[in-house]
Amino acid sequence: MAVNRTPTALITGITGQDGSFLAEQLLERGWRVVGVARRSASPHPWRIAHLLEGPGPRLEVVEGDLLDLGCLVDLMRALRPDQVYNLAAQSFVPTSWRQPLLTGEVTALGAGRMLEAVRLAAPEARFYQASSSEMFGLSDREVQDEDTPFHPRSPYGVAKVYAHHLTVNYRESHGLFAVSGILFNHESERRGEEFVTRKISRAVARIHRGQQQRLALGRLDVRRDWGFAGDYTAAMRLLLAQDQPRDMVIATGHSWSVEDFVRRAFAVVGRDWCAHVDQDPAMLRPAEILALRGDARRARELLGWAPTVDLDGLVQRMVEADLDRLGPS
Ligand code: NAP
Repeated sequence: MAVNRTPTALITGITGQDGSFLAEQLLERGWRVVGVARRSASPHPWRIAHLLEGPGPRLEVVEGDLLDLGCLVDLMRALRPDQVYNLAAQSFVPTSWRQPLLTGEVTALGAGRMLEAVRLAAPEARFYQASSSEMFGLSDREVQDEDTPFHPRSPYGVAKVYAHHLTVNYRESHGLFAVSGILFNHESERRGEEFVTRKISRAVARIHRGQQQRLALGRLDVRRDWGFAGDYTAAMRLLLAQDQPRDMVIATGHSWSVEDFVRRAFAVVGRDWCAHVDQDPAMLRPAEILALRGDARRARELLGWAPTVDLDGLVQRMVEADLDRLGPS
């Protein structure tokens, strides 16, 4: 007799921004969710603390590292997951120039180890790879979709291209249900403080409360297609629920400059950004991507996916969350 088993999702990168939103959404839908976290001497899983305690189904966290194939195979064997989301990466573009080989080990070969672990020990599992618009890089097209050629401009982008092609290859050569979501930038109040959007929202809150004087930024004219992380993790779930594995671009279709973002962020607290922002040439990248804008038509038509938060809503929630973190004024 078949035993009913709670469907199980395994998520790498559980301590990151997307891991926390995805785990929340899957737990709400009755999944057993197991997150993989690497061992740290100073663990502060602040993004998932609320999922580890309290009533209701809880997130389980197991130790694992994308650098170690053996432990990944053991996890697949022990858990027999129905879905595997590979969100772990060295994900910060500037660090990828300072540590290009580590970035390759984790972001590129780490995805390879995950695919190998699935192939060897859980070949029935559906596999999601966190691909990135940074793969398009220096694109000669104003809008990028699934047919746009890749021209990555950083070691991070290069590593993501390797992982992306390997995911396609494992699908084609080993028959895995393996899908890449090519996600454009997505942000939230859980974004790491080193990323420009969160750096801005945090600085706006601190300047407003008198805890910081100035905000130094690199180029203000670079344009990105920014969405809300919770919308993008919803797309990940839909991508693994397809009948057939197809890779898709996930984006809002709108492109905004860093200046657009910073102006809106200071406007949330009623301030003029020009009075607080400095441009720092030391923050320029060795190779920049001037503009990215995604065309998510395929996801709209085949998945019924659409973003629910626009740029104004995103900036507002990020600045308000950073004000809340500072406590009452
Ligand atoms: P994030 O907040 O930077 O999280 C990255 C996660 O990877 C963290 O949990 C980190 O763990 C983990 N990790 C790093 N090295 C690892 C290793 N060797 N073994 C196991 N885990 C490791 O990233 P995110 O914003 O949630 O993004 C999720 C994924 O989507 C990433 O692959 C990212 O590159 C990709 N992506 C993101 C965006 C975006 O705009 N956010 C867009 C396209 C694609 P620690 O906490 O221990 O550092």
